[in-house]
Amino acid sequence: MVLLRRADGGHLTRVLLLATTTGYQIRSFGEAAGRAGVRLVFASDRCDRLEDPWWDGAIPVRFHDETRSVDSVMAAMDAARPDGIIAVGDRPVVLAARLARAFGLPGHPPDAAATSRHKVLTRRALQAAGLPTPWFESASLDGALDALAARAPYPAVVKPVALSGSRGVMRVDTPEACAAAFERLRRLLALPDVRVERDEAHREVLVESFIPGAEYAVEGLLDRGAFRALAIFDKPDPLDGPLFEETIYLTPSLAPEAVQRQIVAAIAGAARAIGLHHGPIHAECRVNADGVYVLEVAARPIGGLCSRALRFRSGGLQATGSMSLEELLLRHAVGEDVTGVAREGAASGVMMIPIPQRGIYRRVDGVEQAREVRGVEDVQITAKRDAPIVPLPEGRSYLGFIFARGPEPRMVDRALRDAHAHLRFEIDRDLAVVP
Ligand code: ADP
Repeated sequence: MVLLRRADGGHLTRVLLLATTTGYQIRSFGEAAGRAGVRLVFASDRCDRLEDPWWDGAIPVRFHDETRSVDSVMAAMDAARPDGIIAVGDRPVVLAARLARAFGLPGHPPDAAATSRHKVLTRRALQAAGLPTPWFESASLDGALDALAARAPYPAVVKPVALSGSRGVMRVDTPEACAAAFERLRRLLALPDVRVERDEAHREVLVESFIPGAEYAVEGLLDRGAFRALAIFDKPDPLDGPLFEETIYLTPSLAPEAVQRQIVAAIAGAARAIGLHHGPIHAECRVNADGVYVLEVAARPIGGLCSRALRFRSGGLQATGSMSLEELLLRHAVGEDVTGVAREGAASGVMMIPIPQRGIYRRVDGVEQAREVRGVEDVQITAKRDAPIVPLPEGRSYLGFIFARGPEPRMVDRALRDAHAHLRFEIDRDLAVVP
């Protein structure tokens, strides 16, 4: 069923997708594009790893070299404007913004995209706009940091400036723990997969006061400056440190209506303060008696497989059936009016299965039993057999994902936990074999 309009000249509508990897989300965009009759043009900085079922001719780019990458994409596309641009993952957001500007498409101002990727610039922007902000200070990891450790208010949070997925984020309660966290972060930022990004921000550390409270994630869309929340996710597990591993996301939120309104207003305010303008956003915030503290507003959709927890339905006259977040984003990217599209009614949730310890992942038992738990829709184990797995704060992946749906969020929460209890992972702890 081809639902989308065709661009002038009878060619299929084209969306330029900028992504680091050929991960799950790219496959979801591929499926959504197939359903919607959109052709994806793909630009990646990992072209050597493409196994490409959905696009022909990925354009090689380097996310750290935006000027040349803009030129490469313009040249590869013969300066023919795509109908929309979407960034998948954090790293391409600035290039996506620059390309949107170069092609004359709505998008984010490049400076705003850069601010959204940089935790210190984000803090400064929110503070300048008078939004709730914790104490914060940043410093170069190359210099002496004793004075910073001595004056930080405790409890505090030490974090890298431009990583994501809580990687490298550590709560510290004393100056000694803070100094140890700086050292650990130095080592983490020297890892090859971080260095290859060639990001100057990876020489810097941010220290913030710890914000107590309940945490929420918000998936939303900006449409020429107007913000719309697509879903508020509760994070039912307390995230008090020392590490901040994401586990369960549940939607709809059980927070009182008034709190939900405050959350949406705070995210909209933060997006405005950062200067974001047009496209998907994924935001995190903590709520306590002092108000809503926005942790970040990323200029991209929710990552990895998690988007599968969201299904949408068009409220318009034209019944379109259920659609994925990726399909909704493709439609928005090409300028369709998606104001009538809303999240499907059922409660839904995802568990990102944490890595319990460093080692070599060997096998898992109990997946079938986990899939049979009432309400569970799917269990996906994404860890690769016989490959090393690394937990937070150094790691950046999960063992897999569990998805559940039900009439009510608490039942979904139970289903996710029951399913997880069936899974028995065999992890070889022989540290001698772990690189
Ligand atoms: P990332 O972009 O890697 O997710 P964040 O800055 O969003 O980094 O931090 C990751 C997690 O760490 C947050 O979701 C939150 O649980 C926790 N966290 C970060 N900063 C603070 C803070 N100042 N106070 C309390 N918790 C925090």
